[in-house]
Amino acid sequence: MPASPSDHPILFTPGPTEVSPEILEEMARPVIGHRGEEMQAILGEILPRARTLFGTAGHDIFITGSSATGLWEAAVRNCVARKALVPVCGAFSERFHEVALACGAPADRIDTEWGRAVDPAALDRALGTGAYDAVALVHNETSTGVTNPLATIAEVVRRHPGVLLLVDVVSSLAGIPIEVDRHGIDVALASVQKCLALPPGLSLCAVSPRAMERSRSARGKGYYFDFVRLKNCFDKRTPLATPSVSHIVALRRQLQRIEAEGLEARYARHRDMAAAVRAWAAERLDLFPDPAAASDTVTCVRDTRGLDVAGFLRALRRRGYAIGSGYGRLKETTFRIGHMGDHTLGGVRSLLGQMDEVLEGGAA
Ligand SMILES: *Cc1c(COP(=O)(O)O)cnc(C)c1O
Repeated sequence: MPASPSDHPILFTPGPTEVSPEILEEMARPVIGHRGEEMQAILGEILPRARTLFGTAGHDIFITGSSATGLWEAAVRNCVARKALVPVCGAFSERFHEVALACGAPADRIDTEWGRAVDPAALDRALGTGAYDAVALVHNETSTGVTNPLATIAEVVRRHPGVLLLVDVVSSLAGIPIEVDRHGIDVALASVQKCLALPPGLSLCAVSPRAMERSRSARGKGYYFDFVRLKNCFDKRTPLATPSVSHIVALRRQLQRIEAEGLEARYARHRDMAAAVRAWAAERLDLFPDPAAASDTVTCVRDTRGLDVAGFLRALRRRGYAIGSGYGRLKETTFRIGHMGDHTLGGVRSLLGQMDEVLEGGAA
């Protein structure tokens, strides 16, 4: 039977996700210099569109030739002077805490059971000690498929003056609305291989004036991710050092495509894909996270049938579809479907049909 309509396994992994042929063509254009007028013009198109995507009028936008992990380091090194508080509810938030410590920043974690959203009241109590000057939050926890209540958490953080809010929106930016200005987010950061659907290798962030102020007096923040140096460059629409020029060209194209689709339509498409996958999961197996906190960009499915999860993934791959295994300690008992980026409801339905056939065929 015909499986994938493609010559390669279609990526429904929760990063990287499938990249459209149009974007791959952009990536293949002749390389241009990164200091010339052409690059300035391209960045002149990208920066305002990126602001719209982040929901900010005035934050600085920086683009770095790194994955998002580099911007975790940037956020910590520029913005944590005393101590960070990291709400941990899965593998990525756990690693954000680990990265803070590795950067030499004192950091405490406040743990929530995996599969549940971070509790704003617990965060409020912890911040009440006055020990912290930054909160490092993962908005959409890709390992458990949970979206944290950003509006409520941001409101709690704003009650504590002098505490900066650093938010990883890696697997939500361009898939779930992000409102940096409305929520008073100081640093929002993301890489491009999730809901932006570019090949991996580039990241971007929005940085508030408060965060810039903190950065000015930060010590030991290094060179490559120094917000002050980055601002000096991006104010002139020029990158710091030599970035992946091809990615920047492709990002311009992708932001144009996102604008053409319309942000509201894009978010609605992500909600529709998520609803289809969740309905499938509830009927065939089970949803891993608390349904009230389930993400619109990635679904973590709990195996209730004692499947050979690795075998199930291999069988799907033979049919031309790649989905994600469980992450970290959830590897044996869950699997994850990324419904993000340029995927469509029709594409998701084809995937679910293939998953049914594999389950019914007992191939797993
Ligand atoms: C993928 C992911 C990361 C890691 O990003 P890289 O681009 O691989 O460095 C961080 N946080 C979340 C929530 C992610 O989904």
